[in-house]
Amino acid sequence: MPAPPAAPADRLGRPLGELRLSLTDRCNLRCGYCMPREVFGPGFRFLPRSEILTFEEIVRVAGIARDLGVRKLRLTGGEPLLRTDLPELVAMLARLGGLELALTTNGALLGELAGPLARAGLDRVNVSLDALDEATFRRMSDSALSPATVLEGIEAASRAGLAPVKVNCVVRRGINEHAVLDLVRRFRRTGHELRFIEFMDVGNSNGWRLEEVVPAAEILRTIGEVYPLEPAGGGGEADVAKRWRLADGSGVVGVVASVTRPFCSGCNRLRISAEGRAYRCLFAAEGLDLRGPLRAGETDVRIRDLLAGFWRLREERYSELRTAATPRSSSSKIEMSYIGG
Ligand code: SAM
Ligand code: SF4
Ligand code: SF4
Repeated sequence: MPAPPAAPADRLGRPLGELRLSLTDRCNLRCGYCMPREVFGPGFRFLPRSEILTFEEIVRVAGIARDLGVRKLRLTGGEPLLRTDLPELVAMLARLGGLELALTTNGALLGELAGPLARAGLDRVNVSLDALDEATFRRMSDSALSPATVLEGIEAASRAGLAPVKVNCVVRRGINEHAVLDLVRRFRRTGHELRFIEFMDVGNSNGWRLEEVVPAAEILRTIGEVYPLEPAGGGGEADVAKRWRLADGSGVVGVVASVTRPFCSGCNRLRISAEGRAYRCLFAAEGLDLRGPLRAGETDVRIRDLLAGFWRLREERYSELRTAATPRSSSSKIEMSYIGG
């Protein structure tokens, strides 16, 4: 096989570095900011099995992306732990080599799967947890899941060697703002790293309003009034979270300020939906179909060239442009649960 081409840079000079692969568009929760029940109810048509990439197709795509410079692969969804035989897929991806393997999950099934996933070769896990009290957690996730189950999942991941775990919390004004300090208290001295995420206007169905966004600066102020903070650095330019150390040395928190301080200039992420469409931005409306060529018997070289050409034309920087736009600017964006967070 000919040598892989040099890692492509896009029109704004951003190299391809990370691939986020959605394994399913289904989820066992109905977080209002992502899959509101009014939209993702019993009548919603999820992708049929035949339309989502098989394990073999996923591994081919991951290998092609690695040859184009991707070094980190994050499995996401929907809820990736709903994908049957997930540890088998992780083992197949680990055998490819050259990729750091990470996973983002809501943690509901992590208690049972953390061990098998770690043994299969998973390197790191991010767990979403929006509140510690039952009432707020259930309101945020619109489910009967208990936050205690997610905490058990985090502990199982830790025992399985997936520590430190990154714990992600989306903050919504008037709903779970109080969870910020609860979570900091709970995760100090555990070695796990908390990351607070601004509520984003991704997709068309979550009824996003700017007033519901709690700016990262405000989140940091709230924490800093109780636990003084100092900049922690680290993470690199492509890391979207700005990190802060609790000055007493008891932990690190990060904030993902995608609305108030966009980071498009360092964004090196390609996303691929469960049905094999590649997207250059979380807010993109159009994707590149990879499943068609994969199933039509195209060679890896041909698909690699397609993907490289697609990335080279990339000029998306939605969040940086959003500031100038009205809050609900486009009605054709794809949903987070489809493209993967
Ligand atoms: N189901 C898994 C989970 O919840 O971790 C993985 C997929 S989920 C789409 C990935 C991440 O996106 C989660 O941390 C979730 O909180 C975040 N997310 C979803 N919708 C969001 C929104 N509108 N604004 C900010 N973050 C969002
Ligand atoms: Fe499901 Fe994750 Fe979206 Fe919540 S954020 S609805 S857990 S995919
Ligand atoms: Fe990357 Fe698009 Fe998000 Fe900007 S808006 S950081 S380009 S995914």
